[in-house]
Amino acid sequence: MVFRAFGHQPPLKPHLIGLTGGIGSGKSTVATMFSEFGVPVLDLDQVGHRLATTNDECLGYLVTAFGKKILQAEGSLDRKALAKHCFSDADETDRLNAIMHPLIWRQEEQWLSQQQSDYVIIEASVLLESGGAKRMNAVIVILADEPIRFQRVLARGRQNELDFRSILARQCDDSMRMQMADYMIENNGSLQQLRKHVLAVHRALLQSHGVESGKACGDPVQFVPKG
Ligand code: ATP
Repeated sequence: MVFRAFGHQPPLKPHLIGLTGGIGSGKSTVATMFSEFGVPVLDLDQVGHRLATTNDECLGYLVTAFGKKILQAEGSLDRKALAKHCFSDADETDRLNAIMHPLIWRQEEQWLSQQQSDYVIIEASVLLESGGAKRMNAVIVILADEPIRFQRVLARGRQNELDFRSILARQCDDSMRMQMADYMIENNGSLQQLRKHVLAVHRALLQSHGVESGKACGDPVQFVPKG
């Protein structure tokens, strides 16, 4: 006879909830709100930046693929040179992604193994374009009208119009995002309105992903997912 020993089950993995949207849609703002609700958040764009600038293995692969022209005089990565080289040519973009994505996913796995919550948020600007959505249990898409995104990005002060347009051209459009979305959050209004939407999605996620994992159950669902 076989008994199942309570207290000796392997730890349950948190559910992965992808968070994506176009440039300036409010991904980072929404991610911060989720983390204020106590949900662990991993920003894959930041992971990629960190790997490329601080990880010797990653830098080695990049130099082998693209040559020393992507390095600054003192040997560190010249991110502008890498972007200029890779983002003007689709094949080179694919090569860059083929190097970066497995390294990023390895970091994601390591981070995930340390998390104990019902669900975690994985923020990534190209989650859908990179095929990363397949690893997610559900996907949240942030939607905001392009003129509003443009104004917000310019007001943020990190990018100019040219940067905005070239990033926009490399990303998929909102109609594709909407097809892939399990939850959509509209962000054309105030931050206060946005926070209400995020809280509603948080509750819905706690209910669907907390119950399934046998852990916490949140308040009744107040947010109706797509469909
Ligand atoms: P990126 O695609 O560049 O990574 P993002 O999708 O992460 O951008 P955020 O950085 O969160 O977007 O938002 C863009 C700018 O708009 C930020 O300065 C943010 O503070 C501001 N913002 C986001 N949502 C709102 C809102 N509802 N009201 C006012 N400002 C907002």
